[in-house]
Amino acid sequence: MLYKRSSALFKQAEQVIPGGVNSPVRAFKGVGGTPIFAKSAKGAYVFDEDENRYIDYINSWGPMILGHAFDPVVDAVIEKAKQGTSFGMPTEIETKIAELAVSMVPNIDKIRFVNSGTEACMSAVRLARGFTKKDKIIKFAGCYHGHSDAFLIQAGSGAITFGTPNSPGVTQGTAKDTLLARYNDIEHVKQLIETNKAEIACIIIEPVAGNMGCIPPKNDFLKALRELCDMHNILLVFDEVMTGFRLAKGGAQQLFDINADIVCFGKVIGGGLPVGAFAARNEIMSHLAPLGPVYQAGTLSGNPLAMAAGLAMLTTLNNDTEVFERLAKKTEYLHKGCAETLKKNNIEHTINRVGSMISIHFTADEVVDFETSAKGNNDTFKAFFHGMLNEGVYIAPSAFETWFISDALSYDDLDKTIAAVNKVTQNL
Ligand code: PMP
Repeated sequence: MLYKRSSALFKQAEQVIPGGVNSPVRAFKGVGGTPIFAKSAKGAYVFDEDENRYIDYINSWGPMILGHAFDPVVDAVIEKAKQGTSFGMPTEIETKIAELAVSMVPNIDKIRFVNSGTEACMSAVRLARGFTKKDKIIKFAGCYHGHSDAFLIQAGSGAITFGTPNSPGVTQGTAKDTLLARYNDIEHVKQLIETNKAEIACIIIEPVAGNMGCIPPKNDFLKALRELCDMHNILLVFDEVMTGFRLAKGGAQQLFDINADIVCFGKVIGGGLPVGAFAARNEIMSHLAPLGPVYQAGTLSGNPLAMAAGLAMLTTLNNDTEVFERLAKKTEYLHKGCAETLKKNNIEHTINRVGSMISIHFTADEVVDFETSAKGNNDTFKAFFHGMLNEGVYIAPSAFETWFISDALSYDDLDKTIAAVNKVTQNL
């Protein structure tokens, strides 16, 4: 493949945009090479500025669950735009999408729309603190909840109990209120609660982790978290930015039959426009401004174009009774094909999958948390990534990401992907 125009555009972008990108992982830093500039996309395919076509497994990092330029979403946005793009006043469509979301997701009475997953998680934690009148939070190493200060804390040897910033600019003052736990390790969570008695406002978790590759929760891990939270007056916050409206109509809460106290959304809920949201039952949401004292706001929150896109997306997902099963079946087919191929080609691997989230970890060991995920062979991943790209298959340029399956993928696309996996891994 030739990337002539992408290379030129990247050089130009680097002059005026830090690293040439507006979100770091797009820069291919982890895998090397020049980022590909997208020109357009339709259905399962994305086209770059050099007219190369890729079968897309990023799907804008999750939102395009029904494929790119999905007609009902595009039409809804165009129609809405003609009536004005922002008012800073309430609009009817905000209530419509709120009603629909509340009807699809278990255990929520009210939902507040924001502009990104970051904002959703950040606001959810503020609300949890305001509601419980406690300061500390527990997050899990390897989980990503956006780039707000409290979440940019990563596990490290000295950072197990009290967080250490992993980004300059995050103060020690902020970091000390974020406690780190190992994913899937309930004993570790118990210890943290024990040593920080009566100080923990919430536990925030990706109910299926997607930001250290795909890692499912172990049997009863979420249930045990729920019980611990109930026992200690701690709120359980599900960050469903990835899993929401993807794993099931009602997201991970429905899939695992566990109620969270606050649920965060992003990605699919905006149909590809910038939308996030957080939701909870009335008792908690009544603490939010203007009803209560916990402040949160946004000039463009509930933006009509974003709401139109989100409403078209959620309506389709709500009406299609088989979409989540279809997605899971496609993902299972891909899983089986990749596993057989990698085994035949003697590539050490572990494939994790839940619904339409899947990733190949290049390690033979079970991958259950950040530490085991980090054991994956990054050189193999880099070679795999570039090989797949060359075969016209676009996966995320980082080993610590899930693949996002879209319903626009045909079985022929999946077969072509498996054939590409075979070709690429034959000589690895
Ligand atoms: N939470 C999770 C689970 C995510 O995957 C992401 C983004 N990948 C975020 C929060 C942050 O969302 P955004 O990038 O829209 O701010």
